[in-house]
Amino acid sequence: MTYPDLNTPPRILLGPGPSSVHPRVLRTMATPVTGYMDPTFLEIVQEVRALLQQAYRTENDLTLAVSGTGTSGMEALISNLVEPGDAVLVGANGFFGERLAEMARRHGGEVERLEASWGQVFDPAQVDAALQARPAKLVAMVHAETSTGALQPEVEAVAAACHRHGALLILDCVTSLGGLPVELDAWGVDGAYSATQKCLSAPPGLAPLSLNPRGVAAIEKRSSPPPVFYLDLMLLQKQWGEQPAYHHTAPISAIFALREALRMAMEEGLETRIERHRRNAEALWAGLESLGLELFIPPAHRLPTLTTVRVPKAVDDAAIRRRLLEEFNLEIAGGFGPLAGKIWRIGLMGHSSRRENVTLLLAALAELLPG
Ligand code: PLP
Repeated sequence: MTYPDLNTPPRILLGPGPSSVHPRVLRTMATPVTGYMDPTFLEIVQEVRALLQQAYRTENDLTLAVSGTGTSGMEALISNLVEPGDAVLVGANGFFGERLAEMARRHGGEVERLEASWGQVFDPAQVDAALQARPAKLVAMVHAETSTGALQPEVEAVAAACHRHGALLILDCVTSLGGLPVELDAWGVDGAYSATQKCLSAPPGLAPLSLNPRGVAAIEKRSSPPPVFYLDLMLLQKQWGEQPAYHHTAPISAIFALREALRMAMEEGLETRIERHRRNAEALWAGLESLGLELFIPPAHRLPTLTTVRVPKAVDDAAIRRRLLEEFNLEIAGGFGPLAGKIWRIGLMGHSSRRENVTLLLAALAELLPG
């Protein structure tokens, strides 16, 4: 049997991720692979570390990219920080909050869920009250909930509430890093993880992560090493240090790609980039409303990087998405869990956040939607 050359359609990725990858990043991936101990590569690793510190706005020494998608970043923080019997408070207001709760439970955490219905966000006073009632070692929360399109506000006040009660705050920044303000040090967030395939627009495969000295001290105080060798942050920190020790073979081409994606983000400037995400999202929101569609999240908590819109009653959710893909090469996504069949999820992230993409999607919807 023979297999033809790869010939994938030229999709425009306007779903919840991956986003479209810029040709500059794709070209960089064709750079010849070096060894993982090659001095040139070790220099590149240090550059990526410095660029990630800029992206996260942090001076955290432990800042690196975990080999694996966003979930590996989530599991690295949870498995290193949670020991069996530790009390963990998790914001459960969407699919990824639920995943955090499940992961903390699997690592032996005594998980308490801070409940809110999908699409709602948390008030810092709720976090304060929950920790007052039952102290926790760790609080975990999603900054930009991709399953609902809601943005958690007042992270600084949430972090202050955690610290008042002696808890660490872990923030999921998968759909915010590189597209929304993320200020780890100024906000007092102890640990965060993200993914390369969203607002940074590199291919999927790495999870940028950062942990502050309080978080590192919590790992050092563990009674036994973390149960997951591949995600042991103390070992990974050595691998990402100036004099690295072998831990696992670094995904060389993925790290090259992340370097180029981060370099592009810094060339654009983080503020300008965040403003571009906002401007294009506002154009999308106005256009969707002028088509008679109803946005799912109120403006105050609406994510510019991921818009959720209600599927109109008489419309076949899957059929519209299929036609967008087949006739326009446009990918958008449907809803998860309680929102399955009820919403569409439209991502404008990184290289996908462009005015021409907004115009094309709105024109395609105008053609496909009845009336
Ligand atoms: N957290 C959030 C908010 C996400 O949107 C995602 C993926 O979409 C993840 C975590 C998991 O990331 P990944 O699918 O890259 O493992």
